[in-house]
Amino acid sequence: MKKSLLLLLFLLAILLIGCTPNVHTSSNDITTISVEITEPHTTEAPEILETDETITEGTTLYETSAEVSTETPTEPPTEPPTEPPTETPTETPTETPTEPPSNTNERDLYYSELVNQAIAENRKVVYLTFDDGSSTLTPSVLNILDEYGVHATFFVVGAHSLGDENAQTMYNEIINRGHSLGIHSFTHNRADIYASLEAFSEDCNKMYDYVIKLTGYTPFLWRFPGGSATMYADHRMQTEYIPYVESKGLTYYDWNVSSGDGSRDACSTDIYNNVINGVMKRNVSVVLLHDGSGHEDTINALPDILDTLINELNCLVVPITESTTPVQSYKN
Ligand SMILES: [Zn+2]
Repeated sequence: MKKSLLLLLFLLAILLIGCTPNVHTSSNDITTISVEITEPHTTEAPEILETDETITEGTTLYETSAEVSTETPTEPPTEPPTEPPTETPTETPTETPTEPPSNTNERDLYYSELVNQAIAENRKVVYLTFDDGSSTLTPSVLNILDEYGVHATFFVVGAHSLGDENAQTMYNEIINRGHSLGIHSFTHNRADIYASLEAFSEDCNKMYDYVIKLTGYTPFLWRFPGGSATMYADHRMQTEYIPYVESKGLTYYDWNVSSGDGSRDACSTDIYNNVINGVMKRNVSVVLLHDGSGHEDTINALPDILDTLINELNCLVVPITESTTPVQSYKN
């Protein structure tokens, strides 16, 4: 009995000893497992870093865009100083040239700009036109215009101009003193001129060639004797005479203000009143006056007319040039 009890105890002791080493190894096994578990984490970690790198590449893109945004604030300070100086110099050099250019194209441009500027400023524009000269009165008209520093348009008639020598002197004087020279037929004899296209063209050509011969200047302005609405011309005005002058490169000009100086009854006061009242009614006036012989009242009225137009009404008084809008009164 004792032997079997001892054996049992021995066996129990062995069992107890044998159990502890087993527990140790199992705990070792657990640590190795835990190591094995952390290892995949460390291998995954670099992959995450790689994706992080692509993100950091993205952030460098953000940085460059941030660089662009840092450039923009440098622009505004450069803008304000550049704006004010560009405005001031354009305002100063406007109406400095006092003498109109003699070159035809430059002269036309010069007056076009003056007229456009005057219209923009609500100033009235006045074209003074003198018909039926030249005569012994023409030098007085030129002197009065000089006194007021303005230029006009002269529609001359060859047969009225007191011979070739006087005609040559006066036509050139008109041009050289800055006025426009237009033609108004050679004879001014309306009954003859409007009798037929043949008669009309013969007279028109004679005057056209006469001006070229005496001045070397090619006319571009025409005024029909009696105007385009003259009772001397019938429907042929539209079908024959107007097309004819235009075929010669002439532009015809009528008027929208008459001084009334064609009437023998008109005194200088009447002429003055007719011109001023007519100009007051419109923005752009083409005024009919005469410097042919017998029109002393016109010359007497002229200083007062210019004084009122320039100093009281602040009108721009200019000659007709190539680009002046024509006043044409012919009606069907
Ligand atoms: Zn006339």
